[in-house]
Amino acid sequence: MRIRLLLPLLLLRVPGAPLFPCQAPAAEAPRIRVAIIRGSTSLNLKTSAPIYIVEVKTGEKYQLLADSAYEVRSMGASIMVAGHRLLSPVKMLPAEGAERVRLASRLYKGDIILRASGQGRLDIIESLLLEEYLRGVLPAEMSPGWPLEALKAQAVASRTYALKQLKPSADYDITDGVEMQVYKGYDGVNPRIKEAVDSTRGEVLRYKRKLITAFFHSCCGGHTAGVNSAWGEGVTKPLSGVKDPYCAGSSHSRWKYFVTSKDLLAFLQKRGSTALKLKGIKPHSKGRSGRIITFRVSTDRGSETALVKEMRAHFGSNKFRSTYITKVTPVRGGYEFSGRGWGHGVGMCQEGAKTMARKGKSYRKILRFYYPGAGIEEFN
Ligand SMILES: [Zn+2]
Repeated sequence: MRIRLLLPLLLLRVPGAPLFPCQAPAAEAPRIRVAIIRGSTSLNLKTSAPIYIVEVKTGEKYQLLADSAYEVRSMGASIMVAGHRLLSPVKMLPAEGAERVRLASRLYKGDIILRASGQGRLDIIESLLLEEYLRGVLPAEMSPGWPLEALKAQAVASRTYALKQLKPSADYDITDGVEMQVYKGYDGVNPRIKEAVDSTRGEVLRYKRKLITAFFHSCCGGHTAGVNSAWGEGVTKPLSGVKDPYCAGSSHSRWKYFVTSKDLLAFLQKRGSTALKLKGIKPHSKGRSGRIITFRVSTDRGSETALVKEMRAHFGSNKFRSTYITKVTPVRGGYEFSGRGWGHGVGMCQEGAKTMARKGKSYRKILRFYYPGAGIEEFN
């Protein structure tokens, strides 16, 4: 094979090589495209093995050398690799037999796509088989040491959630953070994780023949929440909320958080209030599962309502751990909020799933409990 040197010792063009030689046989299995870095201005790429870079539109193929450093950035509709201009998007493929790609110290086994996303920004997207992706989600979303049946329930919920996110016309399907489901590449994968994913291979949750958005969360605090219509979800039976006796012993089951009057006032002022003094705060409206929707705050300028979800966003969701707030106690200098659970509370309660599994319940029983009415079916 003739290899033309384009840049001194760094970027080699590989003419005539097949484009994606190992893709065709797996075409039937569902794949997913995960945005692993979004809006980056540049990337310092260090290679431990040879890597191919392919311009997707032209099929031009280049080779990056092993044990080298490359600066990657975007410019208009182009991607600059070590100063050489390539047409966006480009695909990074490990050379045959080489280790997969490591980015930001995480190992990725899929194909990596670099895409100019405008204004000098770069998106980095991994395209991989859905079942491989789930192996990376599971250890990030649930402790790998938890009972196998809980891990299997998580695998089915995460598979269903991911399939529901597929968007063929978009640049990618899903992000890798807590706003969707957490994915950290291949590093946390161990034999238990593989068993949980493989033994439920292809299984998904459907209600009335449609995939459900299989939300899950850390701990519900005693009752899971009904899905909020503000999320653009129809309130279907599997996501309408259930009473949960299984997470009561969890350390996340109850929490307290103290907020000073000064900080509460600053929060109100930030959203336009002219108040200078707080007189009190109490729950104003509640949802069916007992979660607070709004608080009524009395001030020297009258009273106003505040959405709990705004307060969570302002003070942090690791402080206001849920909207399941049961009591507000005035204390010196501020207010103590007492609450239950951690997370949005919709769908499967992971702490409850762990207890159910410890009590000998199967993953199917766990899923039927938290998503009532949903069937566990093969995705095809
Ligand atoms: Zn629970």
